[in-house]
Amino acid sequence: MIDNNFSSRPTDSLVIALAKGRILKQTLPLFEQIGIVPTEDVAHSRKLMIATTNPKIKLLIVRTTDAPTYVQYGAADLGVSGRDTLIEHGYTGIFEMLDLGIARCKLMTAVLESVAHLPEKRLTVATKYVNSARKHFAEQGVHADIIKLYGSMELAPIVGLADCIVDLVDTGNTLKANGLKPLDTVLEVSTRLIVNRVSLKMKTDLITQLVADLRTVVSSREEA
Ligand code: AMP
Repeated sequence: MIDNNFSSRPTDSLVIALAKGRILKQTLPLFEQIGIVPTEDVAHSRKLMIATTNPKIKLLIVRTTDAPTYVQYGAADLGVSGRDTLIEHGYTGIFEMLDLGIARCKLMTAVLESVAHLPEKRLTVATKYVNSARKHFAEQGVHADIIKLYGSMELAPIVGLADCIVDLVDTGNTLKANGLKPLDTVLEVSTRLIVNRVSLKMKTDLITQLVADLRTVVSSREEA
């Protein structure tokens, strides 16, 4: 059974869920600056729960899309997740505490380079980001038939599965390599620190201190 009431949990320690990949890579230097360093090489270890040099803090290494779920159910007190993923999750049971300002990118619509503009009234969209895409096209008054994919979305317009895709764009190289071009921005994305609502009540001091420390690091990086 899931322990959601926290009655049996120590209130003097924190579990933080970190999304694998780009977010993990860019979060670790921030954590290092506030004295949280994993006790083993996260990139190469097969372990998914990792102690840190701060005895009060443990890390869970999870899939990007799972980070908000671990926090929602209290398996982790805090989490680090992209805004794109949080919007798809819906923020249930979660507060957003801080914009870490890392892994910045844009969620964008994209089409084949040969396409001048999208059909105006009705179109088919392939994406992993169903909620954001639906909201975007609804706001434009366009009827979008959404096809959910879990990856390699660039293929969809090439093989005629969709008129356009909605996907994360950083340099634009992936789109270009597949003969696609970006059109409109759906969402500005960066990585956020999230907290479980119950944890925030039960562990207010620890969490407030951690957020304050991270805020200082993030601000000083932005000023630099
Ligand atoms: P790029 O070729 O630099 O535009 O990067 C696009 C690819 O990287 C796409 O497959 C995206 O899903 C992924 N990507 C880009 N930025 C991010 C990010 N901040 N977080 C996660 N994935 C990203």
